[in-house]
Amino acid sequence: MLSFQPLGGLWAYSTDGGSMSWLTKKLPVSINQRLINKNDRNDTMAFTEGWTAQEVTIEELAGAILSGYAYSAQFSGNRKTSNFQSGGFVSVDVDAGISLDGAANIDIVEQSATMIYTTASHTEEVHRFRIVFALEEPITDAREFRALTRSLALKIGGDTAATDPVRVFFGNDKADITVFDGGLCRDQVNELIDQSFNAVTTSHGAETSEKKTQRSLKSVAPDQSVRTADNREARLEELARSTTIYCPFHHDTNPSAFVIVSQRGINGIHCSACEASFWPSNSDRFDFYSFDDAAKNAAEKIAADKSDELDEVFWRPETRPGEIEFLNQQYVSVAPASPGVTFIKSQKGPERRSF
Ligand SMILES: [Zn+2]
Repeated sequence: MLSFQPLGGLWAYSTDGGSMSWLTKKLPVSINQRLINKNDRNDTMAFTEGWTAQEVTIEELAGAILSGYAYSAQFSGNRKTSNFQSGGFVSVDVDAGISLDGAANIDIVEQSATMIYTTASHTEEVHRFRIVFALEEPITDAREFRALTRSLALKIGGDTAATDPVRVFFGNDKADITVFDGGLCRDQVNELIDQSFNAVTTSHGAETSEKKTQRSLKSVAPDQSVRTADNREARLEELARSTTIYCPFHHDTNPSAFVIVSQRGINGIHCSACEASFWPSNSDRFDFYSFDDAAKNAAEKIAADKSDELDEVFWRPETRPGEIEFLNQQYVSVAPASPGVTFIKSQKGPERRSF
C-alpha cells in the first residue's frame, strides 16, 4: 500500500511495513554550494571548485536541489571522468517530449525511481525533468556507472548522450520534487549495466586501459512478443531475418532493432540504440551473418532516405552514407567507385549466399 505524506515542502510516497526504506539510505554524492541553479552567479570556477563529497539521503539531496545546489558523483581532484570514485544516485534527463505522467507510468520508473524533479527549463507545455534512482550499493567503476545511466535513459526515453559519470546536475530552487520509497537493487543494476556495458566500452574505451570485459547480455525468449515496424505484434521466432522491429529492451520510438538469425537458425534481436544483440539463452551466441544482416538493414535505410538512423558501423558523422551493393557473381566487378573509400567484404570459403 502506498501512503502519501507531506515532508517539509516535498511530497513523499512510502510503503507500509517494508523491510528497508530507501528514504533513510545514505549514499555518496558530491554537492556544490557555489553552483546555484544554472550558475546564477556566473561563477566560472564553480564547475571545478566548490565540490564537497558527502553521503546523503534522497531527502537531503532533494533539499540541496531546492537550495539550487548542483550535484554530481564523487571524484578525486578535478572533476573529470578518470577521477570518478563513487556514485550512489543515477540521474536521467528527460526532455524529449515525454510528459511527467507518461514517465511515471514507465515500469522501471513506477517500480524503482527515488525522485523526480522538474529542471529549470520545464514549462507546462514542454515538460523537462530529471529522474533519480538510489542504488542499493554505490558504483565505483566509471564504465559501469556510464552503462547504467545509458540503459536507464534507453528504458525511459531520456537523453542517452548525457551519461558522463561526473556530469553536473543543476539544482532548481523552483523545482517540483516528488520522492518515492524506491530504488534499484543489486540484480537490477547488474542487468542494466550488462545491457549497455559493451556499447560504452566500445565508444569510451579511452577512459581506461583495462582490458575490455565481455559481459553476457539479457536473453530474449524465442516466443518473445515484439512489434514490427509496420505495427504488427508477432512472436520473435516467426519473423524473417532482417525484419525491422521495435526494441523490447528500451523505450523505442524509432524502431531501431531488427531480427538476426544464428547459424543454427535461432532468431535473436540486434538493436542499434542499445548497440547490442540479444539471443535466447542456451543458443549459440554468435551470428556469422550479423554483418551481412546489418549491411542489408543499412542498405534499406539508405534507400528509404533514413540514413540518420544508421548504426555507426555504417555511418559516422564525419562521413556521408555511402552506397551498399550486394553482388553474387564469381568475379567481383565494381561499377566506377564514388569518390571516397570503398570497402569490399567477400564471402570466405566455398559457400555462396544470395540476398
Ligand atoms: Zn534497444
